[in-house]
Amino acid sequence: MLTGMHIAVIGGDARQLEVIRKLIELDAKLSLVGFDQLDHGFTGASKEQIDEVDFSTVGAIILPVPGTNLEGQVDTIFSNEKIVLTEEMVKNTPNHCTIYSGITNDYLDKLVNATNRNLVQLFERDDVAIYNAIPTVEGTIMMVIQHTDITIHNSKVAVLGLGRVGMSVARTFSALGANVRVGARKTEHIARIFEMGLTPFSLNDLSSNMADVDVVINTIPHLIVTSDVIAKMPNHTLIIDLASKPGGTDFRYAEKRGIKALLAPGLPGIVAPKTAGQIVANVLSQLLEKGLERRKEN
Ligand code: NAP
Repeated sequence: MLTGMHIAVIGGDARQLEVIRKLIELDAKLSLVGFDQLDHGFTGASKEQIDEVDFSTVGAIILPVPGTNLEGQVDTIFSNEKIVLTEEMVKNTPNHCTIYSGITNDYLDKLVNATNRNLVQLFERDDVAIYNAIPTVEGTIMMVIQHTDITIHNSKVAVLGLGRVGMSVARTFSALGANVRVGARKTEHIARIFEMGLTPFSLNDLSSNMADVDVVINTIPHLIVTSDVIAKMPNHTLIIDLASKPGGTDFRYAEKRGIKALLAPGLPGIVAPKTAGQIVANVLSQLLEKGLERRKEN
């Protein structure tokens, strides 16, 4: 339980509602910033403007998945208020105050360094990334169905990268009956792809594996689907790029060649905001409870 713990939840989208629900269930005292247009009231939580929050008692600050922008502004879909998390606010918090965000950037890194506070990047964690791969794969299936005129069953799908997303994508498309080949650079990944019953290939041979492919799903956050690679694809090939912006595809060249290439960021929040919120809420509540226990022991 988080009884008595004062937590500021600042900004976000539908995913953050699951976080708020979970924290209320655990009896935390919540200051909700950037939720004034939300009709739903939460018992035990007060909607506040950022300059009304008493940061001197705040033990945790919860930011949305993207954190802040480079000027410290936090996005919210539930308010028109301009919300900026400043150094002064964070300096006012108790020393043990921890900031939780999906990812970080230069602004947040500087803020935590200057204020000597701890920052937890939830999306760096393996557990969050693996759980999050589930709605990502479902969103990928949706996109492939929407943008092709063939079934996934019996199609030729190339997945690039065998990380947390790549592995789930490859396994699921194979389970749907696609002929899946997976490109990786590490020999242990090549071995794992073979063990999974899929067809491995080295990324050094990427171009030569493109001649007959129907769908390419990239998970590598690095320019990998270059013009050379795209030039080898049949005209009907669909490229879905899941890697974080700007993706790993030469989109300009794909367009020039008439190959449909789509960057598909943030699929979990689009196709399953409730599940995506619950994934964050579950891990976050475990971390907050552990942190509280540790402080009580000391
Ligand atoms: P991950 O576990 O780190 O996997 C990344 C994969 O890319 C690994 O197989 C890695 O291989 C490979 N890789 C990285 N740099 C490479 C390079 N220069 N050359 C060749 N291979 C390289 O990451 P993840 O959790 O699977 O996420 C993959 C990407 O999808 C990330 O950009 C993430 O932000 C994004 N993502 C997008 C969505 C969405 O909705 N679109 C959802 C979740 C995640 P090695 O092990 O050999 O380095």
